[in-house]
Amino acid sequence: MTEKPAHLALYRRWRPQRFSEVVGQEEIVQTLRNAVASDEAAHAYLFAGERGIGKTSVARILARAVNCPNRVEGEPCNECPTCKAILANRSLDIIEIDGASNRGIDHIRRLREEVNFAPTDLRRKVYIIDEVHMLTNEAFNALLKTLEEPPSHAIFIFATTEPHKVPRTIVSRCQAFEFRRIPAGRIAGHLRRVAEAEGMELTAGALETIARRANGGMRDALVMLEQAISHGGRPITADAVLDMLGLVDRETHAAFIEAIERNDQRRVIETIDSLVERGKDLEIFLADVIEAIRDRLLNGEGPAEREIAIARGLLDVKADLFRALDRRIRLEIGVLDLMARLNPDRTSSGNTGAEEPVAAERTVEDTPPSGPPIPEGIAPIWNGMLAEIEKERIAIAAFLLEGRPNLEDGRLIIRFPRRCSFHKESLEKTSNLQYLAGSVRRHFGDDVRVEVGYEGEKGGGSGGDSLFEAAQLVCRMFDGEIIKEEK
Ligand SMILES: [Zn+2]
Repeated sequence: MTEKPAHLALYRRWRPQRFSEVVGQEEIVQTLRNAVASDEAAHAYLFAGERGIGKTSVARILARAVNCPNRVEGEPCNECPTCKAILANRSLDIIEIDGASNRGIDHIRRLREEVNFAPTDLRRKVYIIDEVHMLTNEAFNALLKTLEEPPSHAIFIFATTEPHKVPRTIVSRCQAFEFRRIPAGRIAGHLRRVAEAEGMELTAGALETIARRANGGMRDALVMLEQAISHGGRPITADAVLDMLGLVDRETHAAFIEAIERNDQRRVIETIDSLVERGKDLEIFLADVIEAIRDRLLNGEGPAEREIAIARGLLDVKADLFRALDRRIRLEIGVLDLMARLNPDRTSSGNTGAEEPVAAERTVEDTPPSGPPIPEGIAPIWNGMLAEIEKERIAIAAFLLEGRPNLEDGRLIIRFPRRCSFHKESLEKTSNLQYLAGSVRRHFGDDVRVEVGYEGEKGGGSGGDSLFEAAQLVCRMFDGEIIKEEK
């Protein structure tokens, strides 16, 4: 860090200023450093990934690195007049554009005119376009023309949280990097260094809680750290952090799920009572419980069918909770009602939780088909694929059971009834869709694309095409590998 004026927010003060300071994106920054060091920076980069994980920071470091006359091994010196001018936002040759608020053709037209002028005071003009997927199609087309023949002094860096919305014609002209969510352990380690340097006192548990809660984003983690400190108390403990965020610990989520599974009504009511007493946000609690079930499903823990039924029921309760005047009662009734539906042959309540889970585990094969039949032509292939998926990824097989496949124009469209939004959305998670796309190609043929949608929709739903492209893109970027498609 070069300067740390105290009035700046913590995450700004600790924004990485060199490639080596970027946490959790090592392969990407190493590749960029090498390119800068050998004077082989590309003309266009696409930085894809969640918000708050370092895309813009790396873009700014790159902008200095390609311009710094004193760079060492691809790193900017951050001391020379050039670096200082860029750090202070004083250079006219570093142009940052927010794609969300400048999405129209006019902005890109202006950019196209200006880009051809030589830089004013630097070696390279660097255009950083954030949230580039927000550009209109017209604007993308104009941008494409520039990318087809970029002036040698210009570098474009596009950042996006939704790479599947960026046209492939643009993507193919960029060197693309997928920024990863930063592992919680790495975030905790960085928070520890920041806390030490800033003289903050937090327990290891508090740091871990923040790191986990940040969901892979360093910016969110630093914002939470700053909140925790201003919240007071020394040292700050994990409980204090959870309190501050209105959250409960993971053990409570797990115990709540277990109580539902065991039909332990007393335990469910007691848990809700205690949440209300401690002033916890019931909606966030429910969302976290659903998230915990989703994690279990994706990790292949527990019988998938039953967990899906619980998650679906809780999602319904959550939707109602939003409207309810008395959230506590709505939550209690909603969960008890769900438990009654899960255990139709049981009326008892308040068991101690020592018994076996009430309903027998249903395997995937037991589930009766509920929708229209699978078209005869593809039924054998579909069932063969399901049988294979069942062995590898039971949760995905369980999601698929509620869907009706159909082969249309080289696309395998899997449609779900509206009530199965949880199934559909779970399949749409990138890693699942990626897995599914691979299975479909193996079983239905290399050219067959998969789409997921709702019943009654013509194609695979609005997101079908772009989702497929997202999966493809992620596939190609897998393991942080760089895509470089030569023109
Ligand atoms: Zn410099």
